[in-house]
Amino acid sequence: MEAEGQKWPWKTDFYMELPKVELHAHLNGSISSNTMKKLIAKKPHLKVHDHMTMIDKGKKRTLEECFQMFHVIHQLTTSAEDILMVTKDVIKEFADDGVKYLELRSTPREESATGMTKKIYVESILEGIKQCKQENLDIDVRYLMAIDRRGGLAVAKETVELAKEFFLSTGDTVLGLDLSGDPTIGQAKDFLEPLLEAKKAGLKLALHLAEIPDKKKETQMLLDLLPDRIGHGTFLNSPEGGSLGQVDFVRQHRIPLELCLTSNIKSQTVPSYDQHHFGFWYSIAHPSVICTDDKGVFATYLSQEYQLAAETFNLTPSQVWDLSYESISYIFASDNTRSELRKRWNLLKPKVLHF
Ligand SMILES: [Zn+2]
Repeated sequence: MEAEGQKWPWKTDFYMELPKVELHAHLNGSISSNTMKKLIAKKPHLKVHDHMTMIDKGKKRTLEECFQMFHVIHQLTTSAEDILMVTKDVIKEFADDGVKYLELRSTPREESATGMTKKIYVESILEGIKQCKQENLDIDVRYLMAIDRRGGLAVAKETVELAKEFFLSTGDTVLGLDLSGDPTIGQAKDFLEPLLEAKKAGLKLALHLAEIPDKKKETQMLLDLLPDRIGHGTFLNSPEGGSLGQVDFVRQHRIPLELCLTSNIKSQTVPSYDQHHFGFWYSIAHPSVICTDDKGVFATYLSQEYQLAAETFNLTPSQVWDLSYESISYIFASDNTRSELRKRWNLLKPKVLHF
């Protein structure tokens, strides 16, 4: 419902100027076509073309095809130097889009050909974050270490150990763990023990769950861990995927959802924007955070995702503002960072909303 007399400021500017928080961004999926060109030029023998790493406007792929795209991207980011470059480029692009606080997530990867170990991979990301800070970019960046379902229990345990180590040594940059990867591969029960271990160590959990239908049992197992945030949760509120009980569980525990509209449409887990589950969760005032997932692969950016949500679900400018402001509550950084961000938002509010 549009509030009486409330006029939209010039739209594209409004969404760009809106200060934003990005909480669900995979590093390799966030690589823009510009950065991709630089990577392709370094490895011409791979003969990679644009359409192999990005889904253009109006185009769709299956979830399986999307995971194949990640395989191609990983072949392009194989050295510490590559990881440092993509980290810096991705951070700069988010900053240019008005993102003031960013949690980047990525699975530590090793490449014997270049001598990149998992530890070097993580250190390269942290170096990228540090260099952006030194360049005084107007964005606060943190890192979530990701567990790829494909790796199974042994790799998950190793990742948790690495996360614990960096959680202690970086102070407040490595904040938590993500569980992601092809949801048709592996079983959630394999990851419960390491995830619980991470939680005990003080790391936060952001878990992809109910991304595909018919995963009710797995979803409940992951929910029982009481994750700090849920990635997608696409089928939680649908008869094929979740249940009223699970919706109630998520509501009772007020577990925030990270919602990525374009990602779900282009990978075809949601048929159209107006059927996106943002509509359901927003209508019951459940904590929902608009995110990009993979801005490179899905050819989007966070201000566009806000615009899509607003236009699809008829949000007013002040509702869009509140959506962004409330996201601050669900970041994994400290209360101190939260209050700093709220101050920034309050200072920017009159300029962005034009009052
Ligand atoms: Zn994701």
